[in-house]
Amino acid sequence: MNTVTSRTTRSTADWQRADAAHFLHPFTDFQSLARKGSRIITRADNIYLWDSEGHKILDAMSGLWCVNVGYGQQALIDAATRQLRELPFYNAFFQTATPPPIELAELLCEVTPPQFNHVFFTGSGSEGNDTVVRMVRRYWDVLGQPQRQVIISRKNAYHGSTMAGASLGGMAAMHAQGGLPIPGIVHIEQPYWYALGRSMSRDDFGRVAARWLEDKILEVGPDKVAAFIGEPVQGAGGVIIPPETYWPEIQRICDQYGILLVSDEVICGFGRTGHWFGCERFGVRPDLMTFAKGVTSGYIPLGGVMVGDRVATVMIEQGGEFEHGYTYSGHPTACAVGVANIRLIRELGLVQHVRDTAGPHLAKLFETLKDHPLVGDAETCGLMGALLLVKNKVTGELFPDEVGIGMVCRGHCFGNGLIMRAVGNRMIMAPPLVMTTAQIDEMGSLIRRCLDLTLEQAR
Ligand code: PLP
Repeated sequence: MNTVTSRTTRSTADWQRADAAHFLHPFTDFQSLARKGSRIITRADNIYLWDSEGHKILDAMSGLWCVNVGYGQQALIDAATRQLRELPFYNAFFQTATPPPIELAELLCEVTPPQFNHVFFTGSGSEGNDTVVRMVRRYWDVLGQPQRQVIISRKNAYHGSTMAGASLGGMAAMHAQGGLPIPGIVHIEQPYWYALGRSMSRDDFGRVAARWLEDKILEVGPDKVAAFIGEPVQGAGGVIIPPETYWPEIQRICDQYGILLVSDEVICGFGRTGHWFGCERFGVRPDLMTFAKGVTSGYIPLGGVMVGDRVATVMIEQGGEFEHGYTYSGHPTACAVGVANIRLIRELGLVQHVRDTAGPHLAKLFETLKDHPLVGDAETCGLMGALLLVKNKVTGELFPDEVGIGMVCRGHCFGNGLIMRAVGNRMIMAPPLVMTTAQIDEMGSLIRRCLDLTLEQAR
């Protein structure tokens, strides 16, 4: 029989051995993990992490795009502790409720755009997008148009990892495993100007990319299309920031054909773009919004769907029972943390901080990084950003895939106390919203050092 040793007495090697022996990590090559061993993160404060060897690391990815208020916020810890003592769990099925989800629902309806007056809670963003698929199809059913089944999404989108979430997503590697996408979900190209539209101005390309939606609607048949879903800024796909002309044209097309518009705000929500929600940054009025991550700043799992009046009215007044729900829909402890988190975002003025101070400071930093020989393009939106690494700045020539330039750079980041993520040849970041301008400068020095080391290795 295995003996489980106490946490404090284990060395890094002990953790790595047990990890490789028993823990199947998400999105991980199991053999590679066993060979190299995981980095074990043991504690955190503000925007910094520490690993089991005592190294301090600046977390420019906010955990996994979620720790918006930074680590160690006492208000969130207290909210969880209080709720765990009072009532750790009770369900929201069968006409029962607990106070925290009611309070959180009220607060969410205050901070979201005015068309949102209802929320359906889930345990994660993936479950939120599964809920979207079921709700969208139910909506059209109730309206007597059951043939409206098709949901249009985009290539390289990420909408989660459940069957519906991965199907909505446009990740080829995910579709290649398990027979995805499920029927009734189709994809158009993403609005990635550098890869697909450099012969045009960004604005012209934005309109062209949006019209791919119209082409697809006409191909499928307008009476069969139920909804379009998109992330305001594609996050996991590489922080693909669309041209300003893109979303207004998407809105026009959805309005013209009467199809529902779904904004996946799992990353862009709760201040990331300098607005409460990404749809506000880009001037669109979605009918449904998926959220997760930033709703609790990742302190505890929680997700959901904001349901706009157009859909809510039909579901409530004509729909009868909606045969859908999760054990943890409206989990009281998770919702108590959500309430504390939103109050804290307000108290600290984090949305304004991103819009007026931290976001513009990050944009300035990225402008200066454009002088680096490896950086072919640098873009930010609020507190998210991407650096495109190129072989030749003048011609825009990219490194061959075999070089794995992003992974080389990511390795140097890890080795120098910085967490950034690599998506192909794009180095991406989404740091905690509490980041100060001095901390952005500190991050800038780290990035430049890592780019220099990457350049040396690539030569
Ligand atoms: N939607 C978007 C835009 C995401 O980025 C993610 C996760 O990264 C999800 C959905 C899925 O959320 P979860 O991992 O909580 O299921």
